[in-house]
Amino acid sequence: MYRNCVLRLGLGTPSTALSNLCNLSDMNPTRREFLLAAGCFALSPALLNQEKKPTRIILLGTKGGPRVAEGRSNSATLILINDVPYVVDCGYGTSRQLVNAGVALNRVRYVFITHHHSDHNLELGPLIYNAWITGQPIRVDVYGPPGLKNMTSDFFNYLKFDIDTRIEDEGRPDPRNLVIAHEFEKPGAVLTNDDVKVSACLVRHPPIKQAYAYRFDAKDRSVVISGDTAYSPELAQFAKGADVLVHEIMYLPAIEALIQRLPNAKRLREHLMASHTLPEDVGKVAAQAEVKTLVLSHFVPPDDPNTTDENWMEGVRKHFKGRIVVGKDLMEIN
Ligand SMILES: [Zn+2]
Ligand SMILES: [Zn+2]
Repeated sequence: MYRNCVLRLGLGTPSTALSNLCNLSDMNPTRREFLLAAGCFALSPALLNQEKKPTRIILLGTKGGPRVAEGRSNSATLILINDVPYVVDCGYGTSRQLVNAGVALNRVRYVFITHHHSDHNLELGPLIYNAWITGQPIRVDVYGPPGLKNMTSDFFNYLKFDIDTRIEDEGRPDPRNLVIAHEFEKPGAVLTNDDVKVSACLVRHPPIKQAYAYRFDAKDRSVVISGDTAYSPELAQFAKGADVLVHEIMYLPAIEALIQRLPNAKRLREHLMASHTLPEDVGKVAAQAEVKTLVLSHFVPPDDPNTTDENWMEGVRKHFKGRIVVGKDLMEIN
């Protein structure tokens, strides 16, 4: 119970969250006082944190690649700005990870897709569906490269029977009217509202031409999410001076150990080298950008038992002398 309370309170205002905790007026005074005291004690770090940083970054899924397995969840990152959720990429498991992070799905307001590899978009439709079925009318604005509109409408066709049945049978609003897909095919400003300016930078992820990094400039913090990319000097420029850069990473010794027996090893290695970034180059990008904190995520390969956190960091450190965080699922970046 306390864990749920902490998460819920951490994401709401103190007064409403506390009243959500339980119906305190129905309790005898001793129990009520105990719960209030326990609640305040348990929740104060989260509340203090919220006061310090209106913009919060939580890694939902840190795995590179589409395979579903034990260990890291597929790619997704959450940015909460003044309590409004912005989700970057929707790999498989994103809905569950949002719930695990304490975010009710019908609060999801903005979604950004970096590119159309399935480890970044497989759960886009299901996330919108899950937000809708959670129970209250929502509006979700989704941003990404061309293909996004078709993907959204195709998903609604895929679930047409269920959606139409529930609208008729359960009196729900039509989810097709609650989602707006915004496609863009050039880098630049993507979204501006009172809280944040979001912009996109074209990155290098062949054979996909429309692959983007996103930058969130909020009032208190700036955050860049690399998406999938090979070493990209443009990204270093784009991330200049950011507080936090979340960058993908690939560790070659582990890749070579994994693929050596595959018949297509040579081809696979060439593909990976052309489209992902080695630790030394991640370090170069972070150093050129002069970011304060570098967060490693989208690990390729993910969950290799012989690769340690130190292995991921050692190449990076050759170039970047700032703070490095080896990302884990549900980790908050402070
Ligand atoms: Zn990927
Ligand atoms: Zn990709």
